[in-house]
Amino acid sequence: MLEELKREVYEANMLLPGYNLVTFTWGNVSGVDRREGLFVIKPSGVPYEELKPEDMVVVDFDGNKVEGEMNPSSDTATHAWLYRNWDDIKGVVHTHSSYATSWAQAGRGIPCYGTTHADYIYGEIPCLRTLTGEEIDEAYELNTGKLIVDEFERMGKDHNAVTACLCKNHGPFCWGRSPEDAVHGAVVLEEVAKMAYRTELINPGVQPAPQELQDKHYYRKHGANAYYGQAKG
Ligand SMILES: [Zn+2]
Repeated sequence: MLEELKREVYEANMLLPGYNLVTFTWGNVSGVDRREGLFVIKPSGVPYEELKPEDMVVVDFDGNKVEGEMNPSSDTATHAWLYRNWDDIKGVVHTHSSYATSWAQAGRGIPCYGTTHADYIYGEIPCLRTLTGEEIDEAYELNTGKLIVDEFERMGKDHNAVTACLCKNHGPFCWGRSPEDAVHGAVVLEEVAKMAYRTELINPGVQPAPQELQDKHYYRKHGANAYYGQAKG
């Protein structure tokens, strides 16, 4: 079942080592079929060089395996919660990419220091709070998903404008309009994280880019009045 989606998710997973976003088996990408109410995700702990499209695991929004030989990624419950609550996303990615994870470990969101960031993500990429001991013991992966959705709600952030977050002491989650789009966002996040780190090294007192510049760059590519690129249709 969902053979086409399995191939799409497989190919998106294979982009992670291609873009240097993963070490060993770290990281996972999933993609959803909204009509079926199911998603496809990488199996747990399989080296990328051995991965095959048919190894992808089909899972429901409660994180239960529906089809597949192997166990789904250990982060499946986080992906499931994001799909269940944000019904317009179609792909989710989790990595421990080095620069983004460094910000997560430092417990800091990534300020928007320039237009590379503003072209893709509106404003600061938030670093969420640490889960409590109880939340970790009870249902770690599910509670990670709940924290992401709840914190975006609390901060009034639009998950379509801020398509990534940092889980404190852990690493980034990104989402998008397809598995490939979510991976694209993870690559952008890593690059932006690297630049922001260097920006602060060069100038420790640096301030975020002016709001007008952030708005101009974000809204010329996104929303009703976007004009960047070639006209469609
Ligand atoms: Zn992780």
